[in-house]
Amino acid sequence: MDCGRIMRSGLGHNAGLAMTLPIDEARLWASLHELAAIGQYRDEDTGLLGVNRLALTDADAAGRRQVMRWFEQVGLAVRVDRIGNVYGRRSGLDDSLAPVLTGSHIDSVPTAGAFDGCLGVLGGLEVCRALDAAKVVTRRPIEVCFFTDEEGCRFGTDMLGSAVACGRLPLELAWSLVDRDGIAVKNELARIGFLGEVNERIGPPHAYVELHIEQGPVLAAEGFELGVVTGVQAISWQELTIVGKSAHAGTTPMHLRRDAGFAAARIHVQLHEMIASGRYGAEMRATMGRLELAPNRVNVVPGRVLCTVDLRNPDDARMADAERDVAAYWRSLAEELRVSIEARHTARTASVTFSAEVQAVIAGHLRDAGVRHRHILSGAGHDAQEFAAICPTAMIFVPGEHDGISHNPREYSTAAACARGARALGSTILTLAS
Ligand SMILES: [Zn+2]
Repeated sequence: MDCGRIMRSGLGHNAGLAMTLPIDEARLWASLHELAAIGQYRDEDTGLLGVNRLALTDADAAGRRQVMRWFEQVGLAVRVDRIGNVYGRRSGLDDSLAPVLTGSHIDSVPTAGAFDGCLGVLGGLEVCRALDAAKVVTRRPIEVCFFTDEEGCRFGTDMLGSAVACGRLPLELAWSLVDRDGIAVKNELARIGFLGEVNERIGPPHAYVELHIEQGPVLAAEGFELGVVTGVQAISWQELTIVGKSAHAGTTPMHLRRDAGFAAARIHVQLHEMIASGRYGAEMRATMGRLELAPNRVNVVPGRVLCTVDLRNPDDARMADAERDVAAYWRSLAEELRVSIEARHTARTASVTFSAEVQAVIAGHLRDAGVRHRHILSGAGHDAQEFAAICPTAMIFVPGEHDGISHNPREYSTAAACARGARALGSTILTLAS
């Protein structure tokens, strides 16, 4: 490795490094679009091109192989662990030191845009390309990584790969999760060639920093160029199975019905009334995102429903209150409507507070470079929250256009905004790795 310029220990954000890394906006933009071409589809509603790289599908595998090729082109030593997480390592002057980690995910929801997750991975790659261009060797190694099934869309548990790497989920449990067709994670990892041999439990990195799109409207609405993320709110996912009795819509009197569809509707309304009550704080959110009626016919009372409840709250105690109250509601509703309601937690993560020190490094660079920024709590879950349990961690948010819409083909951040984010990421990594 060329050691033309060496970053010495103790260099801080005020040492003339503020956002000066030669990030190539066009190169980053081109990589984002090359990756988005894998798993691309035409959205019927909008006519826009979207991305569908559901975890461990053939499209995800093709995306993985493309990113690994880029990792190798920039000289990163690539390894794949037993849950399919991929790490690309750039040597430092002292490879015995714990690395600075950066990364995110490249799996997507079935109706995604080009930026969610991918910006963090390709932003980290671009930082390595820029470090090469500037002939910089850091003191600590740097690792760029992407984690398996962050979205949780296919196997029902989000942050799957990073949760296993950081020790929250046991490998065997993650391997045994199945999709709707009963196909297990381990089988799919093997099928697509990403059942690696490296131990999945990662030693604590020196620090973890993740670049990501905001996926919300706040930064753009308030005129900020970047966000320093303070933490992630608590998330609770439950899957409800409601069983009543299918019946003829014309001949069955209303009072004799056991209508599972009606029960789901009542729960949905109750969720909104809980929020409106203000009892769980102004930040509480609730969503019924999945609702499947059976037999799903115009003239049949639904006998069976599968639906989901997604709760978010920055306050763990208020989240626990909301979970308790909603469970009490569906217990009484089951009795009232003579249906059975079974609830199963598919994901549950406590709120996470990111490292004040790493936030200060990011904010220091943004201040020095005159970038308009604010601190912001993440509304979405991210791989970073798993790392917060094992090392100093923080995130950088890039604002999105169109009210920050995400998980949608309209998801968009400008090339300049993406490059600004990568520049902030690069400066932060330089400081942390020096
Ligand atoms: Zn994401």
